[in-house]
Amino acid sequence: MKIHIDKTKCYMSGECYYNHPEIFKMGDEGYPEVIYSDLDKNEIKQHAQEAAEVCPATALKLEL
Ligand code: SF4
Repeated sequence: MKIHIDKTKCYMSGECYYNHPEIFKMGDEGYPEVIYSDLDKNEIKQHAQEAAEVCPATALKLEL
């Protein structure tokens, strides 16, 4: 599983890295960065799906 961040949509609200620091961290420019780019644990997958669902900019896409 991979997570794609569309930086043309993201406006750095921070929900993803504040709510799911196990998956995201804040990058140098304020955009999120994925800590795990290749996930296979169900729990992490679930958290990534939650992050994508609550992203106000719909900037997170999961490649399952
Ligand atoms: S929740 Fe969405 S808009 Fe906010 S920082 Fe993360 S990717 Fe960007």
